[in-house]
Amino acid sequence: MHGRNNISLLTDLDGERISHFKLREFENKDGLAMVHTNTLIALEKTRRALCTHYGTDVQILITDAVRTLEDLKRLAARYGWIDEGGTVARRSKHLAEFGGIAVDIIAVVTHNRNPVPPKVLGSLCRRYFNFVKDDYRDGHVHADTREK
Ligand SMILES: [Zn+2]
Repeated sequence: MHGRNNISLLTDLDGERISHFKLREFENKDGLAMVHTNTLIALEKTRRALCTHYGTDVQILITDAVRTLEDLKRLAARYGWIDEGGTVARRSKHLAEFGGIAVDIIAVVTHNRNPVPPKVLGSLCRRYFNFVKDDYRDGHVHADTREK
């Protein structure tokens, strides 16, 4: 929907005001959007580390962020619950009750659209997020800022 959540999110990073993410990138399919401050900061720091690592501009693309219980059940119907051998956690940190702390991401080098390998993305995420999982078959990386 044009204009919905089309809002730039500002972060202060070492005294510099930056914005590489918009609220709409954190929407679920119904347009509900939520992102925790710590998660936004971790995303900006990860992006900056990626740009340094590659020596050029790299974009982080958010493939999934906040989820309702309905979203979670829909995912579980497709991928299965972890306790039944699948990949979806029943107490997923994507749930709104956790405050928008979790994101699923991929990254691409901006000028040639080359994908950043999940292990590279995951290892840089581990500097700034408290929990990272980078061995999903589809190549996305899960990162969240849960309490340690
Ligand atoms: Zn995830």
